[in-house]
Amino acid sequence: MRDVPLIDLKAQYAELRDEIRAAVDRVLESQQFILGPEVEALEEEIAAYCGSAQAVGVSSGTDALLVALMALDIGPGDEVVTTPFSFFATAGVIVRLGARPVFADIDPHTFNIDPAGIGAVMTPRTRAIVPVHLFGQAADMEPILRSAAAAGVAVVEDAAQAIGADYRGRRAGSLGRLGCFSFFPTKNLGGFGDGGMVVTDDRDLAARLRRLRMHGFADSYNSSEVGGNFRLDALQAAILRVKLDHLERWHQARQRNAERYRELFTEAGLGDAGSPLVLPPEAGFGRHIYHQFVVRCRHRDRLRQHLAEHGIGSAVYYPVALHLQACFGTLGYHPGDFPIAEAATREVLALPIYPELSDDGARTVVDVTRDFYAG
Ligand SMILES: *Cc1c(COP(=O)(O)O)cnc(C)c1O
Repeated sequence: MRDVPLIDLKAQYAELRDEIRAAVDRVLESQQFILGPEVEALEEEIAAYCGSAQAVGVSSGTDALLVALMALDIGPGDEVVTTPFSFFATAGVIVRLGARPVFADIDPHTFNIDPAGIGAVMTPRTRAIVPVHLFGQAADMEPILRSAAAAGVAVVEDAAQAIGADYRGRRAGSLGRLGCFSFFPTKNLGGFGDGGMVVTDDRDLAARLRRLRMHGFADSYNSSEVGGNFRLDALQAAILRVKLDHLERWHQARQRNAERYRELFTEAGLGDAGSPLVLPPEAGFGRHIYHQFVVRCRHRDRLRQHLAEHGIGSAVYYPVALHLQACFGTLGYHPGDFPIAEAATREVLALPIYPELSDDGARTVVDVTRDFYAG
């Protein structure tokens, strides 16, 4: 039995080696490493891919969220409503700006923020809502956009895991005021280092993002406000442009793998509600790009150990809910405040779903899981 890693970036690189080396060589010969034509070309391509008018390349997904909130002037005294079940950065950037993250619990099936809980936590200090399209599936945006419009606040999408996912015919990231993407190497579109992008239809906001990513420079060395160095490298842009051409094919392979898991787990008598392992349902809003295939399972940590003993990679996204992070203690949240998110932290397990996962690999994952619950 062959080992099945959680993700295999070497397999992807082997397939693209010549194309990527040619792109890297182009940048090396140009000796232009900061912003420039490669970044501009990637920005145009990502804007087109997402159906947004503007795209601004930045240094990471975290910095995409940070500059997006900076461009909305979010700061001390402001509140931003978001999910307690996400990567740390979603809430971290809010706190870094001196604002307060206000959490609303998640939907138990999709793990995305439950729009029904948002209204109750909004106050006159609420300035934005940050839904996360977790694991590659869009959050339920219509009611979120309605709540935001009614209160006159912005929606900033954390689409770090969802480039190419759809919500009712529109691309994730293109529905709110601003949409934020990450090119962390393990994301569906991953660079060879850190990178990110912010998309928007608002020209003025895009111009402000371009200033903020370079010290607030309005023109050379004249700053109208304080920004930072949040630039995307030309090398990353050149590599990402090569990979963008393959992204649709990879999304499709991930979807095929998800289908395969559904068939195999069902054959193995697992997967339904009530079984010790529940498969991730599709909400029906549009395309799920399966950044992760996250099951909910009984005896999660023992299953994970059993998989590891059989050479199968898995991971827990996320083991700690954001409202219970030690560094957010001063926010005053307590265990039990968001029971659905807290249950998820104890029950979720991500299984291998990467595009190059073989049929045999998927079968091995299911067989070893079935043996665990049978034993
Ligand atoms: C990856 C990720 C980020 C941060 O992106 P980086 O590029 O690692 O800074 C933010 N939010 C979510 C939901 C993510 O998955």
